[in-house]
Amino acid sequence: MSYVDDVLAMIEKRDANEPEFLQTVREVLNSLRPMIEKNEEHYRKEALLERLTEPEKLHEFRVPWVDDNGQAHVNRGFRVQFNSAIGPYKGGLRFQPSVNLSVMKFLAFEQMFKNSLTGLPIGGGKGGSDFNPKGRSDAEIMRFCQSFMTELYRYIGPDEDCPAGDMGVGGKEIGYMYGQYKRIVGEYKNGALSGKPIPFGGSVGRDTATGYGATYFVEELFKDLGKTIKGTTFCLSGFGNVCWGATKKISELGGKVVAISGPDGYVYDPDGINTPEKIDYLVEMRNSRRDRVQDYSDKFTSAEFHAGQKAWGRVNADVYMPCAMQNDIRIEDAKRIDEEGHSKIIIEVANMPTTQEAVDFFLEKGYILAPSKAVNAGGVACSEFEMSQNAMKLSWTAEEVDEKLHRTMANIYHNITDAAKKYGMEGNMVAGANLAGADKIIQAMEGQGIC
Ligand code: GLU
Repeated sequence: MSYVDDVLAMIEKRDANEPEFLQTVREVLNSLRPMIEKNEEHYRKEALLERLTEPEKLHEFRVPWVDDNGQAHVNRGFRVQFNSAIGPYKGGLRFQPSVNLSVMKFLAFEQMFKNSLTGLPIGGGKGGSDFNPKGRSDAEIMRFCQSFMTELYRYIGPDEDCPAGDMGVGGKEIGYMYGQYKRIVGEYKNGALSGKPIPFGGSVGRDTATGYGATYFVEELFKDLGKTIKGTTFCLSGFGNVCWGATKKISELGGKVVAISGPDGYVYDPDGINTPEKIDYLVEMRNSRRDRVQDYSDKFTSAEFHAGQKAWGRVNADVYMPCAMQNDIRIEDAKRIDEEGHSKIIIEVANMPTTQEAVDFFLEKGYILAPSKAVNAGGVACSEFEMSQNAMKLSWTAEEVDEKLHRTMANIYHNITDAAKKYGMEGNMVAGANLAGADKIIQAMEGQGIC
């Protein structure tokens, strides 16, 4: 058996109860074959893939907190510090009931390649809790964040590990966590968290960076395809921060987002989500913590709500962009998309939104599929800009940040397409992203000896 097969067999046995982690490890290691096979014995001797797939550190802790009625609760907190070969651990915190060790490890593993792709000096990490913010008051959220940080503070710092937001964690939560961190450590080290509000060290443009970055990536891809965002229709999923940023930039560039979704179903707005009132309403929906997309069609009569359904293959659009969460497009959705013949372009924005079976199906059918670890890297790139500004104790203008973000996304697009070409996988951006991301990490790990 090849080295990749041996390592996969070992991990499948050892981490058999971690399905999301296994899914991402299989995807990545399979696409690294052309690189590993060139120098297989060397990598085997150095246990490179075993080291690449094992987190450097894993922290799991109890998070006790008290609700507004005086009832105590206990949630589980995590921080996975996957790899620090190219920089301090970096990655978001997710507060969502589906969070568990497997989900945390999958996200941290993906993050390490994504962060490498940005070209910036950041390693990979991820954290969060199975806490559900839905329906919780601000006071409850604050108490939860303070309790979470009371444990997390020992593992983070500007040169050690810098968490940021993810699902369920935005500027407000980051602010509460930073306040608690500052009290405990007794120093103003605001580079220990990114995604902060502007008055205490946040970067302009961080809130829109993931969505804008994804749109800049599409712009770059479209140059190669001879297309423009102007006049193109997009079907998105989710209605959170990432979906909002992408919708805002797409409509600014003359494209039209016609669908978004939530846990309750999807909304189709044939007129497009393209007025400031409609776009701002997405923020209001998120801030309400109702977790319900139907609120959009209740407010805007141009839209129809489809309860309990996904938009994939049901909405006519030129580009499909899943912006919600993992495994959103499954094989049955991929087949429906194909049967309806709407769109041949899938731009993943959420982390691992397409199942492996659906990815294979799309690639076989000749779809253009852009992988999330490249497309959504603008968020973490801007977080690193925030760390740099905090370290220098100054702040950049919106124009400077946007220019850097634009350049980062264009570089990522060209790096991944070049890497795919270099290893004989031309046109396969999924493989290209894994190969380009891994290349730098592997070089850094090799340069630092067995550690
Ligand atoms: N959670 C975001 C991601 O998946 C952002 C991470 C960060 O800014 O550190 O990349």
